[in-house]
Amino acid sequence: MKRKTILPGQTIGILGGGQLGRMMAISARQMGYRIAVLDPVEDCPCAQVADIAIIANYDDPEGAKKMAACADVVTYEFENVAVQTVEYLQENSYLPQGGRLLEITKDRLNEKAAIEKAGLPVVPHMPVRSEEELKAAIDEIGYPSVLKTTQGGYDGKGQYVLQSELDLKEALPYIGKIPFELEKWLPFEKEISVIVVRSTAGETSVLPVAENIHRHNILHHTLVPARIPEHLRNEATQHALQLAEALELVGTLAVEMFVGTDGKVYVNETAPRPHNSGHFSINACETSQFEQHIRAICGLPLASTQLLSPAIMINILGEHVQPVLDQIHLLKSAHLHLYGKDEAKTGRKMGHLTILGDSADEAIERAEQLGIWKI
Ligand code: ADP
Ligand code: MG
Repeated sequence: MKRKTILPGQTIGILGGGQLGRMMAISARQMGYRIAVLDPVEDCPCAQVADIAIIANYDDPEGAKKMAACADVVTYEFENVAVQTVEYLQENSYLPQGGRLLEITKDRLNEKAAIEKAGLPVVPHMPVRSEEELKAAIDEIGYPSVLKTTQGGYDGKGQYVLQSELDLKEALPYIGKIPFELEKWLPFEKEISVIVVRSTAGETSVLPVAENIHRHNILHHTLVPARIPEHLRNEATQHALQLAEALELVGTLAVEMFVGTDGKVYVNETAPRPHNSGHFSINACETSQFEQHIRAICGLPLASTQLLSPAIMINILGEHVQPVLDQIHLLKSAHLHLYGKDEAKTGRKMGHLTILGDSADEAIERAEQLGIWKI
């Protein structure tokens, strides 16, 4: 594929119109690009800030055709884009990220194999595609462990934590019908992530290591810098860079990791796109993950992602929207980002807040002082 430089004034096509597409589009528009978005939902978060909205299903050939007709470069904001759409756009448009990374990261077993091939540690795991494989995996890995669907899982969906044989009951009806993997439960100190971006020119950049705190398996808040020793921050950054190199990344890869109680950094999973745990970069870094992504796919030089200030990023879920709006007068030191979604369903990611501080702990204190949410 011939690499091109896409200049401001040209049109960036985004597959998927959620908040990640919206924040990519906002960065791109600041730089003078035009935006076309493909999404089945009219008035989706990205369509609200786009020049052209193509309303079509992700596997609709007509939608793909329309996208090819108006975009000078195409990117995606989520990993479950239909294979045929990706293939069509690779042939008939310019999709510098290619389709291989999507193929790899779509499936946990493929993804883990690629991580191991890159020489990085992952937690012990085995495929579970039948009752026999389940038995073999339990014999080998034992309890506590976690059964995960190999495809389509997010925010802990499709996962069964197994403390003992009793917990198998819930998952049993699905065994053999959909593919799973069994993973050993890793006692961890922290969950962290590193977002790495690589441009079409082969230039690479990483965001500061983020510390992630989940509630009910959904990211609740992110702290930067991650409160771990510097050598572990370096190790995590090195892991992300090594993986980007091994995968010949073009675009953005978010790498979720565990800092085990054994002091080792394990790679948990990846996402081939900007990530919720990188939202702090909009307010706290010289260049955000979204701007860096746009630079990478357009063939522009990457910019510095230096951390300008420690920060906390707190997700606003459906149930938090009204309390935040009711107390909006308290938002003096908090940067509010809302994604323009109409239905504030419980657990749905509606926006986020970023609060800067002199340190991550001080940012937490400020968030607590604001008192509009409980950390
Ligand atoms: P998802 O795609 O749903 O984000 P993850 O693999 O990241 O799936 O799992 C969700 C969360 O469950 C993780 O952020 C972590 O808190 C916990 N978790 C997942 N796998 C393990 C494991 N092997 N050991 C300990 N905790 C785990
Ligand atoms: Mg995860």
